[in-house]
Amino acid sequence: MNILCNIPVRRKIILIIMLVSMASLSLAVSAFFFMERYNARQIAANNLQTMAEIIAANSKAAILFSDNIAAEETLEFLHYQDHILAATIYGMDLEPFAVYKKPGVEVDITAPSSEGNNVLFWRDYVELITRIHHEDVPIGHIYLRSDFRLIQDHLSWYVSIALLVFIASLLIALVLSDRLQRIITDPLLRLSEVARKITTEKNYSLRLQSESKDEVGNLITDFNGMLDQIQIRDEELEVHRSALEDLVAQRTSALESANGEMEAAKREAEEIADRMEYQAHHDHLTGLPNRTLLIDRIGRALSHAHREQALAGLLFLDLDRFKLINDSLGHAIGDELLRVVAQRLERCIREDDTVARLGGDEFMVLLPSIEKTSDAGYIGKRIIDALNEPIICDGFELNATTSIGVSIYPYDGEDTDTLIKSADISMYRAKSLGRNKLVYYTAEMNEESRKRLILENDLRKALEKQELTLLYQPIVDTRKNAVISVEALMLWNHPTMGLVPPAEFIPLAEDSGLIVPIGEWVIRTALRKLRDCHNAGHPDLRIAVNLSPTQLSRPGLVSVIEQSIDEFQINPCRVDFEITESVAMQNLDTASVTLEKLKGLGVSITLDDFGTGYSSLSHLNSLPIDTIKIGQSFVRNIPESMGDMSIAQAIIAMANSLDLSLIAEGVEHIKQMNFFRQQGIHVIQGYLFSKPVPEEELMEMLGSHSTRFPLDVVK
Ligand code: C2E
Ligand code: MG
Ligand code: MG
Repeated sequence: MNILCNIPVRRKIILIIMLVSMASLSLAVSAFFFMERYNARQIAANNLQTMAEIIAANSKAAILFSDNIAAEETLEFLHYQDHILAATIYGMDLEPFAVYKKPGVEVDITAPSSEGNNVLFWRDYVELITRIHHEDVPIGHIYLRSDFRLIQDHLSWYVSIALLVFIASLLIALVLSDRLQRIITDPLLRLSEVARKITTEKNYSLRLQSESKDEVGNLITDFNGMLDQIQIRDEELEVHRSALEDLVAQRTSALESANGEMEAAKREAEEIADRMEYQAHHDHLTGLPNRTLLIDRIGRALSHAHREQALAGLLFLDLDRFKLINDSLGHAIGDELLRVVAQRLERCIREDDTVARLGGDEFMVLLPSIEKTSDAGYIGKRIIDALNEPIICDGFELNATTSIGVSIYPYDGEDTDTLIKSADISMYRAKSLGRNKLVYYTAEMNEESRKRLILENDLRKALEKQELTLLYQPIVDTRKNAVISVEALMLWNHPTMGLVPPAEFIPLAEDSGLIVPIGEWVIRTALRKLRDCHNAGHPDLRIAVNLSPTQLSRPGLVSVIEQSIDEFQINPCRVDFEITESVAMQNLDTASVTLEKLKGLGVSITLDDFGTGYSSLSHLNSLPIDTIKIGQSFVRNIPESMGDMSIAQAIIAMANSLDLSLIAEGVEHIKQMNFFRQQGIHVIQGYLFSKPVPEEELMEMLGSHSTRFPLDVVK
């Protein structure tokens, strides 16, 4: 069966037709053969029976009369019957009565094997035995033998013909089946072809022409119907697919845009994080690293230096008198100044170095790897030089000098905090040494710094505890031999340290901002004292009050002075305010604005310590000053130093030409006084006349000055 499954349909059809044809032909041939054989036998049997009856009728009398010869004559006609081989007439005793044998044929005549009518068919012949009756009484038997080979030959011939017909039929069936199977297989093959094409090309519009109304036709119709359905489904599927593709495309683009947005949001978040990270580690004003980042870098630098056994340097910078600029010109200019300073600092350092802003006017420079201690000084010097170049901000020409403290790893500290502290301390030392300087840290500074901290703390309480006091130093007009003015000089009566001179605590007060309330106290106390003096009978006495740079920068200064003048009912023209030349020169624009306002109140302005601030004539001209005080630094070496004398003379000439009054201060010796008097300077201040004295002594001095001052000596 399996073999049948695997052979093509057309072969199957041919095979089936052939088998059916063979079966039906075989049946037909067999039926005809057996019919023919039966008929041949019947004819043979009937023929013999007729012969027997003729013989019986003709031989009856011979038997009755036992006439053998007559009986044998009766049998003689059998010579004309070719197919009769032998004939025998028997009597009732079954003994042969007459015998006939075809000539040339050997026949064994035996007694009949059975009685009655009986036909027997043998291979080559047919036998008949029948009784002979006479008046219904059996009188003998007749035996006939007929040749059957003719009939057999006829049958053989017939079978041959049948076989030939059988084979011819089979051949015709084969040819016909081969032709006819196409009626069935051709549409099937076309169906299969179309199905294959559809499968490979996915073209569901292909159809098969149905040419018949039979099952194959139905199959094709159904197949086409199925294709219709598939095509509809396919089109629907196509629609769905394209809808799905559209949807997918939409989703994809939505996803892409969402992705894009997400990417953008991510980038933004990263940027924000970067910005935050940047802001967390950088100073927003200058863009420099801030304290946090600096400390981190110092930590790394120290670890590196430790590993490499190298040196690292730290520079602590504080701009000199930045507060003054900031307070007087405003924060915008202060900020701009800081930005410019930051840029200049960056230009002074190498790539590996870090310059950071700690806040306010404090900067720090980290030199992570230096070969020798002096390298740090070299960079520091470069910075000082760079900042000494004037900075133009909003039309103002500013001088932003800086004081620099230097500490070196590992000598001045092995950890970040100690190293910063050391640099900080040395920076303060630079400040106290007159600013615009670089100072290396030394171990002794630590003690000084500690003291300084204690001192600053004590200074906060000094005002409350009334530890501050004013001393008054007379300023004498040598022509009148009279005290025409007094300079109020502050002194701190420290509970444990005793008297602390202003040079030691005023820078501290300035740095801590305490100078503002202290300065106000000085102004009020001094003006009150002046009122007392006026009231005590010295109405022409003047007073000189020192102003610090920080005070000068505060907008409240003018109103404080105004209030005090009003309060103590003082004529403002009796009041001088002293500002040191160097301060005024560094912040010329600021100073001139405030000084103009003060001038507006009616007070006079004195340029103190003249000769130390490198004023040019034009600068002097732009400041609203009335008087110049020739500084101690020149006076000290007069008359020994010819140079100082020349400078003093030049200053005098310049002041005269600008129509400014002159005071010589720090005059300790008569020779010095004489020098100035010879130069036409008669207003003198100095130990020659008096040291600064407490208020009680001042009154006394004012009352008896003429006896105290040895002016006669110089006459
Ligand atoms: P200054 O304004 O130039 O004051 C003069 C200084 O020279 C005073 O020093 C005074 O005692 C000293 N002196 C005067 N005559 C002589 C002399 O013949 N020989 C010597 N060697 N020195 C003499 P002092 O009191 O120590 O004051 C120092 C500086 O402190 C002052 O210099 C002034 O700039 C500042 N100062 C003093 N009091 C105040 C104040 O109330 N406010 C402000 N802002 N500064 C003040
Ligand atoms: Mg002074
Ligand atoms: Mg002075």
